[in-house]
Amino acid sequence: MSANILPNFTIPKKQTVALVEKSGGTVVIKEDWPVVQQNELKPGECLVQMQATGCCHTDLHAALGDWPLKAKSPLIGGHEGVGIIVAIGSNTVTDRKVGDRVGIKWLADSCLNCEQCRSGREQNCPNAKLSGFNVDGTFSEYCVSFCNHVSPIPEGLDSQEAASILCAGVTVYRAIKYSQTQHGDWIVLPGAGGGLGHLAVQYAKARGLRVVAIDTGAEKKKLCLALGADAWVDFRETKDIVAAVREATGGEGAHSAVVTTAHPSGYTQAVDYLRGGGTLMAVGLPGDAKLEASIFFTVFKSISILGSYVGNRQDAYEALEIATQGKVKVHYVSKHLKELKATYEGLKEGTVAGRVVFDLTKQ
Ligand SMILES: [Zn+2]
Ligand SMILES: [Zn+2]
Repeated sequence: MSANILPNFTIPKKQTVALVEKSGGTVVIKEDWPVVQQNELKPGECLVQMQATGCCHTDLHAALGDWPLKAKSPLIGGHEGVGIIVAIGSNTVTDRKVGDRVGIKWLADSCLNCEQCRSGREQNCPNAKLSGFNVDGTFSEYCVSFCNHVSPIPEGLDSQEAASILCAGVTVYRAIKYSQTQHGDWIVLPGAGGGLGHLAVQYAKARGLRVVAIDTGAEKKKLCLALGADAWVDFRETKDIVAAVREATGGEGAHSAVVTTAHPSGYTQAVDYLRGGGTLMAVGLPGDAKLEASIFFTVFKSISILGSYVGNRQDAYEALEIATQGKVKVHYVSKHLKELKATYEGLKEGTVAGRVVFDLTKQ
């Protein structure tokens, strides 16, 4: 029987967390939040001492309460976290051990026994637990998570680097994996210079795809081309985005588009610039935007419109492995958790470039 608590380690009674006291309210830093002790963990649960956590648009939606689904209240947000397992609930059967470095993703836990779980769509489990949404998340020094679902972080991948792979990375990785594309196909990535987009460019290249990056500004252009994008379309400078994509792809249009944007025009355009048999992957989770596409051309061009929602455990293994090989690097700024409120403001205004990762090893 292996240890249930990390040797020579004392779990503190209090910790610092970023708390949303009620839905729609502001986030406040609490320095005296209780830490769950080993004897309070249920079988299957583990206590993770956090090292790093990314910040995602979803965290902002959860805090604002502007989604059709409602978050728990009060709420500790965050779902791109990396840390060390310091305790495991008694009577837990698991391969995980205390001392393991693991990732906590949006899908904190699922039943593993329902039809969705059996089919590998663990994220669609009706009893799914979601980090930083219906269970407390990673904006804290210690987070309770679930042995079945935490992702082992490969050696050689830095914790801050790994953090954003666990949500942004897994999400775009799965969308590209299921985009029905073959080596050498053209894929269009609107928002390619952003937090999700810059990872999508790299995962697409790692898969041997040719990338049309759509975004705006000299800085994002430089980033996308440096990451290997084969063509660049500036949506502010280009009058006709559909024509520009068709031209970049030899006149026929792209094989697939992975659309992460909240704006409906991103979807309408995709149906127009995809070639016959093309696939539109919808990935973003805007609160109330509607998908607008020509039914006529969706049918006439045999377009597939698919939704892809985060990823399962295997997607996380694969996305982390590709990052560990150095094929995908997260562009992020490292901040202190106290800057979360300012980061939310920046996300609301659209002024945050790349990803923000909070270093939780700093006091
Ligand atoms: Zn996320
Ligand atoms: Zn299930």
